Amino acid sequence: MRITELNVAILSYLWLKSHKRNVRDETLATSLFLFRQDLRLSDNIGLLEASRLGKVLPVYIYTNAEQSHLGSSSRLYLHYSLESLNRSLNKCLNIYQGNPVSIIAKLVKEYNVTHVFWSRCYEPWRIAEESCIKETLTELQVRYRIFNSSYLWPPENIKNDIGSYYKVFTAYKRKAYLFEPRKPVPAPSQLTLINDKHNHTTLGDLALITHAPWEKKIQQYWTFGELSALEKLERFLTHHLAGYKKGRDYPAENHTSRLSVNLHFGEISPHQVWQATQRCRLFGASEEDIDHFLNELIWREFSCYLMSHFNQLPVKNFQSKFDAFPWKKTENLIDAWKTGQTGYPLVDAGMRELWKTGYMHNRVRMVVASFLVKNLSIHWHVGRDWFWECLVDADLANNSASWQWVAGCGVDAAPYFRIFNPTTQGEKFDSQGNLYEKFYPN
Ligand code: FAD
Repeated sequence: MRITELNVAILSYLWLKSHKRNVRDETLATSLFLFRQDLRLSDNIGLLEASRLGKVLPVYIYTNAEQSHLGSSSRLYLHYSLESLNRSLNKCLNIYQGNPVSIIAKLVKEYNVTHVFWSRCYEPWRIAEESCIKETLTELQVRYRIFNSSYLWPPENIKNDIGSYYKVFTAYKRKAYLFEPRKPVPAPSQLTLINDKHNHTTLGDLALITHAPWEKKIQQYWTFGELSALEKLERFLTHHLAGYKKGRDYPAENHTSRLSVNLHFGEISPHQVWQATQRCRLFGASEEDIDHFLNELIWREFSCYLMSHFNQLPVKNFQSKFDAFPWKKTENLIDAWKTGQTGYPLVDAGMRELWKTGYMHNRVRMVVASFLVKNLSIHWHVGRDWFWECLVDADLANNSASWQWVAGCGVDAAPYFRIFNPTTQGEKFDSQGNLYEKFYPN
């Protein structure tokens, strides 16, 4: 086996699964661990910390804000990811729905919780929720700690020479590389879990899935949960990293990791991906392929960094000179784009892939986005919203930053005059029409 430490992570995860206890030992302190976008046991620092202090009340709250923000495909993925996490926790994941502040306050009192831990998120609405939780915990005199688990570099740590934030990717990357990302931590070696017997909310009550035919179709393309994410990473590094630099541009080839959804829901951490990829250098993997793959992970960091410094990124043009642009609202063109009926094979194949699988290859995302905004003159918000609804990996920072990048109104964006020609892009990157063959027929 090549990726030894990754195998260790998988083994420690499996070992933990068989060593969880849900006993009630009254002498131990109780911590509440709030799962959010970190649906995993390994490399989850807050969970590890909680397990070291004593008993853990593992909690997931489907908040009112989350309910109003998630797209349909994300909801579907979340359902199965939570199902997997619950299995990993011996069916002890306590699931709630509603206002996180009142739910947490109630649990703190009921279970004499001394500490509350969670991992940091960056969506403006999650930050707003978080500050209300912090306020309440302070009032209740309960200690809380928030851990950096979902990104390699906390956004506030990377500053330019005048103490402000970078707006150019390469400069950001250069600075970020000065700080070596931390090593992943193992899954807790033992978890003493508390099951809230008074809670009757089940995963099914969240109504994340409706069993509609489209859901079954998308479901078949994905495997869910932490173990599956770790295995996917191992498969990618073993079989597909070689040739990534070139192959990553060809949508019908299997050269990218497809880890975006796992990273979004935190089934795997970027630290696990980063360190496992770096280790491939020891086994003679091509430096170019490794660097290119890590570069993509850094784009993920950069998107979050931008959103954290400009929280209007999901809604407002970063460059306000684009605010007055006379966008068109031609409904029939929007419908043709959404349903893959534009007559351009690569655009249509991509849009149908999105509809069928909840995913689209990065090259094709750029082409269909450019087509909508620059060929059809439709506002990037229309594309942003459709992607948000359909992508299983819909991610507020990545989706907003990428749409702004393609539209030309973002930070370090593709210039407004650069258009991805949908015909030549198809000839170059899907010359045999393989993607088209695969997804065009209904
Ligand atoms: P790989 O090539 O294996 O890359 C590894 C990881 O790096 C990815 O899993 C992802 O987390 C990150 N990454 C790769 N490319 C980018 C990028 N351009 N920007 C930021 N991070 C990147 N990505 C999302 O995760 N969610 C979105 O909602 C999203 N919307 C997009 C919208 C548009 C218009 C465009 C052009 C791109 C969007 N992306 C989004 C970025 C990118 O297309 C996907 O992350 C990538 O296709 C996922 O496939 P992969 O995991 O096989 O990537």
